[in-house]
Amino acid sequence: MSLTVFSQQAKTNDYGDVKVVWNDHIKDSVFSDFQEGIKRTKILDAIANDINGYLALPEDLYITFDECQSSNAFYDEHTKKVTICYEMVSYLYELFKTKTNNPAQLREMVINTTLFIFYHEMGHALIDLMDLPVTGKEEDTVDNFSIFLLADGSKKGSLAVLDGAIAFYLMGESEKNIPLKNLELWDEHSLDHQRFYHIICMLYGSNPIQNQALIREKMLPLSMTNRCIEDYQKIKKGWLKVLEQWIKK
Ligand SMILES: [Zn+2]
Repeated sequence: MSLTVFSQQAKTNDYGDVKVVWNDHIKDSVFSDFQEGIKRTKILDAIANDINGYLALPEDLYITFDECQSSNAFYDEHTKKVTICYEMVSYLYELFKTKTNNPAQLREMVINTTLFIFYHEMGHALIDLMDLPVTGKEEDTVDNFSIFLLADGSKKGSLAVLDGAIAFYLMGESEKNIPLKNLELWDEHSLDHQRFYHIICMLYGSNPIQNQALIREKMLPLSMTNRCIEDYQKIKKGWLKVLEQWIKK
């Protein structure tokens, strides 16, 4: 076998990258301020670099923030684009205000949760682009994808998963007080409290030693820990298996 043939084979499926795009005509002045702030965090570039370093893609995938007239986050299979709506970001700010008054902490929690949601949507995108098999509810499967990629032992990744889980908990707590239109994103998803416990369980399972605090702070009952470790290993194995041919070595 010649070297040329070999290298072609190795790269045969890498036809795309995650690419960052921006809507430069945001009408709402609050949202256009959000956009300037978000651009400075370089959160989208970090997501793009992370995925592009880890996976070959069959075609380009676009990621963006936009104004949408509803609190939402979605993947559009026609445009191959993941969008987080500024209305969603704004909703998360209001949600976390019930948890903290500290502006820096509030901002951090919103960014962390946004990161979790981006990877969730990225999971939907990969299922479409790579035509991946899904067994069970797709919403749960892509929550698991988000956990699988983010809970890698890094502090930043663990916090994204933790704050994502807390956001679902708070949504569950406050659902009665929030107009139904703001809950659109979540209606196909597992109940918020259920989602919270599953994510916390998987976070613990990803690294029991590093995540002891989840038990200390009574977010996770001690009786569940063994199951969390086993379930996390299954999820990790499942995602590694379906992504096998796309993972860059
Ligand atoms: Zn979803």
